[in-house]
Amino acid sequence: ARAWYLKSRPKGMPTLDNFDLRPLPLPPLEPGMVRVRNLWLSVDPYMRPRMTEAKSYVAPYALDAPLDGGAVGEVVESKADGFSPGDLVSHRFGWRDEAAAPAEAFTKLPASGLPPQAYLNTLGIIGATAYFGLLRVAEAKAGETVFVSAAAGAVGSTVVQIAKVKGMRVIGSAGGPEKCALVRELGADAAIDYKSPGLLADKLEAVAPEGIDVYFDNVGGEHLDAALAQAREGARFAICGMIGAYNSTEPVALRNLFRIIAARIRIQGFLVSDFRDRFGEFQRDMGQWIAQGRTSGSETVMDGLEAMPAAFLALFSGRNTGKMLVRL
Ligand code: NDP
Repeated sequence: ARAWYLKSRPKGMPTLDNFDLRPLPLPPLEPGMVRVRNLWLSVDPYMRPRMTEAKSYVAPYALDAPLDGGAVGEVVESKADGFSPGDLVSHRFGWRDEAAAPAEAFTKLPASGLPPQAYLNTLGIIGATAYFGLLRVAEAKAGETVFVSAAAGAVGSTVVQIAKVKGMRVIGSAGGPEKCALVRELGADAAIDYKSPGLLADKLEAVAPEGIDVYFDNVGGEHLDAALAQAREGARFAICGMIGAYNSTEPVALRNLFRIIAARIRIQGFLVSDFRDRFGEFQRDMGQWIAQGRTSGSETVMDGLEAMPAAFLALFSGRNTGKMLVRL
């Protein structure tokens, strides 16, 4: 087998040089173990902070060790009860073509009739992040105005669709006119191109003159500041991610923080894992919306294990719409 190793810790924007594709010795298959050939690998923004040594909610990636991440694969050999060759499983041994581990590390995919990579997208962590962040953390309600950043990306595009299912007014921001057109196609009432000239706060005010009730933050920085400027009284901010800061070496200035006070804004960070016990509720709702054609998962696919670092880097230049995936 082969796996991508972290060769050096990136400073600022990562480069292909930080990664190295090396042979991966697999352990012999003992009783209770399963061997899996990977079919789909996930690249995710959260992997960037894990490449530094900073303390966080997940351990940093070790240098000169194989990287890990979300993956879907097919069982090719099993010495464990309940697993047979041909079974499709999701697991955390990404960034490699094959994995062998105790069966507990693998989750069998339900026979939903959906493509297996949906479990790395709308039916997996991505969908759950959008669902719990919008409905439980921000407590967004029908009739409210929701602003979501990185709205053409995996989590953001799912937030747009869930918000429309739930009868909210949605404004999405994304980089460039094509992505904004896509955000509108997903059902958003307005889309903001944050890369076009002008202040983001002015652009947001133009489409939400009455202000916003909810901000779903994927980006941080100027986006968060614009949302603070436009927040209505009692607004709720679900802080999901701050991709704009992951490669930044400069401090971020927020000019509108004081609005938290007068507008009584509630700002709440969250991790999707906080809702692990409630995944059943999410899977039931999301499964239903997908079956009814009310939500769908878009994806950007690159091919081959060799493409992994390039796919990862592409997240930070916005080359993906929907979920960025690598197909083996
Ligand atoms: P996306 O599919 O949204 O990919 C990243 C997108 O972010 C890019 O396509 C790009 O779109 C945009 N982007 C990149 N750099 C910048 C920048 N400097 N400023 C503004 N936009 C930028 O990724 P995900 O949907 O997987 O993740 C979205 C966010 O959610 C991330 O912040 C991630 O860390 C977070 N997350 C949090 C979880 C949690 O449990 N809290 C779980 C999963 C994700 P564009 O072309 O529009 O710029």
